[in-house]
Amino acid sequence: MTTIRGACAHDCPDTCSWLVDIEDGTAKRLYGDPAHPFTRGGLCAKVNHYLDRVYHPDRVLHPLKRSGPKGSGQFQRVSWDEALADIASRWKSIPPEELLLYSLAGTQGLIQMASLDRRLFGSMGACGLERNICGEVAVAGLEVTQGHSWGIDPEDIVHSRYIVLWGTNTIVTNLHLWPFIQQARERGARLIVVDPVRTRTAEQADWHIPLKPASDGALALAMMHVWVRDGLVDLDYVRSHTEGYGELVEYLRSFPPAAVADVTGISADDIELFAREYAATRPSLLRPLIGIEHHRNGGTLFRTLAMLPILLGAWRERGGGLFRSSGSLQYSTLNTRKLWMPEVYKPGVRVLNMANLGNDLCSAEPPIRSLFVHSVNPMVTVPNRNRIRQGLLRDDLFTVVHDLFITETAAFADYVLPATSQIEHLDIVTSWGHHYLSFNHPAIAPRGEAVSNTELARRLARALGRAEPWLFDSDEDLLRQALDSDHPWLEGITYENLAARGYQKLAQPEDWRPYANGGFHTPAGKANLHPERIGPGEIVAADRDYPLQLITGKSLHFLNSSYGNMERHLRRSGPLFVEIHPADARSRNLEDGAAVKVANASGQLSAICRITDRVRQGVVSMPFGGAYAVNELTPEMPTDWGGGSGFYDAFVEVHP
Ligand code: SF4
Repeated sequence: MTTIRGACAHDCPDTCSWLVDIEDGTAKRLYGDPAHPFTRGGLCAKVNHYLDRVYHPDRVLHPLKRSGPKGSGQFQRVSWDEALADIASRWKSIPPEELLLYSLAGTQGLIQMASLDRRLFGSMGACGLERNICGEVAVAGLEVTQGHSWGIDPEDIVHSRYIVLWGTNTIVTNLHLWPFIQQARERGARLIVVDPVRTRTAEQADWHIPLKPASDGALALAMMHVWVRDGLVDLDYVRSHTEGYGELVEYLRSFPPAAVADVTGISADDIELFAREYAATRPSLLRPLIGIEHHRNGGTLFRTLAMLPILLGAWRERGGGLFRSSGSLQYSTLNTRKLWMPEVYKPGVRVLNMANLGNDLCSAEPPIRSLFVHSVNPMVTVPNRNRIRQGLLRDDLFTVVHDLFITETAAFADYVLPATSQIEHLDIVTSWGHHYLSFNHPAIAPRGEAVSNTELARRLARALGRAEPWLFDSDEDLLRQALDSDHPWLEGITYENLAARGYQKLAQPEDWRPYANGGFHTPAGKANLHPERIGPGEIVAADRDYPLQLITGKSLHFLNSSYGNMERHLRRSGPLFVEIHPADARSRNLEDGAAVKVANASGQLSAICRITDRVRQGVVSMPFGGAYAVNELTPEMPTDWGGGSGFYDAFVEVHP
């Protein structure tokens, strides 16, 4: 028995480090690394059964060619040579700008997520893609205020004494942060959860503040109003490290708590109390995550929320300030230019927004005539699923999907190419939830004829007749290129060290407080408090036909679309359900446990009705991911900044 080190590359902030026991070339056990300071020996409900996924009987192990109508999921096995020759010939016959590489974070590994594929399609002049459906919204908002989206080291949360989880269900989506929060609570920290839904995490909080969806900016402005009115602002910090405070004070006059009680659904007394507690308890940490960025006004919300820790000077103390993601910080230490080689991309190509896939497939001009998909399953994860289906059914669209399974998207493909799982290929995995880089050794040989994303890019380049050496760099070379950086935080972090140890923490100062002494990354070096591009933002209103706001939060047993084909996960997650407030259920004659129809102009779904006060009146909640097709009901509604998607600004009606 040998044990191989690896790391989870799912789209999750925790980036767990794992160990795989191998016997006779077969993986027998996969488990969390007990020595890793963040993983602490545990994985999660999804990945505890990762080997079932690796050895699942439905794995695609050979190239498959469509043998039935589009969408029928009927395929026949073909050789790699036949598939590659046909794909190359089809791609050579269309203008490059009509070919779209559509990929995201199905693997978050450094080179398997984005490396040779970007070099190949970029240098062909293929259509570009804004991969902004998540994250970029928040980054865009935070950057206006802070100049950068950086936050504190999440391990420092143990020093916090007032922790505000704002729009994040930590226990379900960021499990490995929870022990740090608990440690802080054992030392006396108070935990507040701001969320329209009483999530598992909210149930564990000292105080749950169930605000109305998308009203976060209004709540934040009222809190700032209280701080200014009552002299709770850290004026010394503000005078030294910000600009625009005077104008902000004027602007905040319009937002006393009583003025936002209706829009937020939170009483003026509670807003006053929240504001005073937050200001009085130090160190205080604001922890926002995905919830806010899925609203149309997400950029404005992040811009506005980022002012809270600044006005309180919360960045001064260890454990104080804000933490959203360590992703951009990690990438800033790496040599991404060397890895991605943007200098070889053809300039001036059109760039499409991945959130608009349905419309673009149906009506872009010039049309998309070929779609190459890897590391994403847009039929599950992108809004307006029915429109995407309509586009994928086009007879003149040539679709190639590289995946482990015949996913909901792959079922519409002309070719499905077999992809490796994380234990079958080499990579380094960055994290957006902690400060460790993790090495992923292949633990077993690729199953069947599966190949990694990088190997597929090399094969496609060869089939297309390309000969540039940078299209054929080995995986090890690619990783070494990414690590070839003189950033001081990579000191001592080498390919060899990472490979031997499995993970290494960025070489940051032991007590790192990014904005304790100002140094914001804005042009002026000061936080931007000017009352521009702040406010409640545009809160999308319900209409008469569809009065209930639909929140589609992540579910415990699925990781976006992954695990939606696995028996165990399906059994544990159960059939699709919709949670609705008792008053809303009563007015519609709905019964708990009965089948209902959830519908709007985009589509309709059958679900089991759960009547509960976990949701506010006027809000319904359905789980997202896996086999749940809730994106039948979400609109292609762009966010204010950052090119994201207003998933949570969907409105529906629920019928018996
Ligand atoms: S999905 Fe997240 S919590 Fe689960 S093993 Fe992977 S990194 Fe860890």
